Amino acid sequence: MKLACVFAALVALLAGAPAPVQVSQTPPPKAPPQKTLSLAFGVYQTDKATVMYRSFTPLIDALQTAMAQQLNRPVDIQLTIFRSYDDGIDALSKGTVDFVHFGPASYIVAKARNPGIELLAMESENGAKRFQGVVIVAKDSPIQNLQDLKGKTFAFGDPNSTIGRWLVQGQPRGLQTDMFAEAAGSAGMTRASEWLSLPPASDLSAKLSASAVQTYETCPLQFKLEREWKIPGEVPAAMQYGGVIHRVLLAFYDSVRAMRPMEDEAVIQYFNDELAAAGIQDRYQHDLYQAQGVLQLGDFLAAFRRAPAPQVLHTEEFFDVKVGEVRVVGRIDRIDRSADDDVIITDYKTGKAQSQEDSDESLQLSIYTLAAREKWGYRSDHLVLYNLEGNSPVVTRRNDFQLNEAKRRVTEVAGNIAAGKFEAKPGFYCRFCAYRNLCPATEKRLQEPALPNRAATTKPRGMAS
Ligand code: SF4
Repeated sequence: MKLACVFAALVALLAGAPAPVQVSQTPPPKAPPQKTLSLAFGVYQTDKATVMYRSFTPLIDALQTAMAQQLNRPVDIQLTIFRSYDDGIDALSKGTVDFVHFGPASYIVAKARNPGIELLAMESENGAKRFQGVVIVAKDSPIQNLQDLKGKTFAFGDPNSTIGRWLVQGQPRGLQTDMFAEAAGSAGMTRASEWLSLPPASDLSAKLSASAVQTYETCPLQFKLEREWKIPGEVPAAMQYGGVIHRVLLAFYDSVRAMRPMEDEAVIQYFNDELAAAGIQDRYQHDLYQAQGVLQLGDFLAAFRRAPAPQVLHTEEFFDVKVGEVRVVGRIDRIDRSADDDVIITDYKTGKAQSQEDSDESLQLSIYTLAAREKWGYRSDHLVLYNLEGNSPVVTRRNDFQLNEAKRRVTEVAGNIAAGKFEAKPGFYCRFCAYRNLCPATEKRLQEPALPNRAATTKPRGMAS
């Protein structure tokens, strides 16, 4: 496998320039001693700590000397050894170390978390930006070549390991990759975005949800990256609030189904407890959502008490059904029996209020209708998007034409995914996309690394990638 390890840094380390030379008749006064620049350099632990220190000391010494000359001040670099890939990614993205030696996968994940991270240099060995990975089987294994692997199980390395997972998992073509080869570079693309453009490692069409279909229709590349990379990030407060409201309504309607409806005070208390446990970091945001939740639930409960109690059949019911030839999964918030013995499917909306048009065109509601037929044989009389904002239910229905159209969309998306079509489709939504800093459609070309004499750094034995 061709591969390069990368050096990434949170800040530009060599921003300072040497002081200009002064010409003077008299000897200049002695300059005050320059303050030492202290930097923390991080690596993954791949050997005993003593071996790691011994391996990296020549590199650190060379960096200290080169940087001290360029910055005209003493430089002290301390080595930090990370116990896991996650620790390293966390440390760089939070700035607790200044620069690191990473594999490309860790660099991509860290950059997605903190766009301020820059690539400083890529490692080479004997002039080549590559090193070898091996696939290992037991000595007496019947597996003797890569073709024999077909249908067998394979133990991958750490989820963030470049060779141990991504390159092996992503390369059915003889486990070869050339993603960092300079000749293979696509014009205008960084290596990171070339990598993100590689085909997925598994069949992403095997199981879809309504939101997956919609994400694919919006931007196929975003769909692929979300499915493959699953970059962890902070859950926005709005989503935490939505989750809390859904849990509160689940508890409430379970109590209705059990013929012992919770009192209003108990519902509000449950909401307050769940919101506190959700851990919204910003106190001001927490208080705003608390006030909003108390208001919305108060209105909701008042409307509930005014109307006849519904006959609740299901709450938060999971489904896994076939839509055409495609396996579709999801979870329906609530299903009630309607007066004429059909069912009413309700989906709660806690964000911006949905309009009648949203409700009429909702793929999610169409898929719920199909799922209710497939899983329980229900015919749904009414479909409801229930806006907590304004306490306003928006009612719609589906006819056969609309349901066939939903089937067609699901089938088309599954077909395109299976065919490996993952083109970037930039739009206004890119500004909310977690991958915008890496996306080939939106990225700016990386600056060439600023370090002098960066051409070759020696990879210590056993280096993780
Ligand atoms: S930044 Fe835009 S074009 Fe790129 S993956 Fe995200 S949504 Fe798609």
